Amino acid sequence: YEKREAGINRSEIRAFTDFPSKGIVFRDICPILKDPEALAAIIDLFEERVRETCPGVELVVGLDARGFLFGPLLAQRLRVGFVLVRKKGKLPGPTASVAYTLEYGQAEAEIQEDAVEAGQKVVIIDDLLATGGTLYATCELMKKQKAKVLGCLVVIELKDLKGAGPNRTRVRVLPWSST
Ligand code: AMP
Repeated sequence: YEKREAGINRSEIRAFTDFPSKGIVFRDICPILKDPEALAAIIDLFEERVRETCPGVELVVGLDARGFLFGPLLAQRLRVGFVLVRKKGKLPGPTASVAYTLEYGQAEAEIQEDAVEAGQKVVIIDDLLATGGTLYATCELMKKQKAKVLGCLVVIELKDLKGAGPNRTRVRVLPWSST
């Protein structure tokens, strides 16, 4: 795919001002899903990065809701399983959860208690990193379940918000390219 060196053509990601509330510029990844070449390029890049930097990965963990769009495609490429981290109250059976702070108010992320085993190596995937609160909380949830987070993957990082923390120490987001 000719655009892959640039990651993905920015026109594939639309920006909507003041959605879902005033002051937010919402990044819409729907055009990527509609373009099979763009979607393949994204999954190619994720696959390459995981194979290079996360040897022995055993599970892909996807975040509610747009992590569910990219995660299973990547998991299939890697021939590993996919598990869901959902917003509170959506998963049946015993769950483990973590509370975290959003820009406005609180949220809680949940996983089925038996979804990951102690010692399992996972990568976490979502569409976008903003403040990093969601991914950081999911890393904490994985720690609680005694899983080992090898890295986090996002299609878009809003770098100005510095959500990954200094030197990516808060959330280890894997870069698109090794250069
Ligand atoms: P954060 O926890 O602040 O890093 O926010 C990340 C989560 O919120 C992801 O699941 C995103 O899908 C969603 N999100 C936050 N900001 C935006 C934005 N500007 N456009 C689209 N989604 C966003």
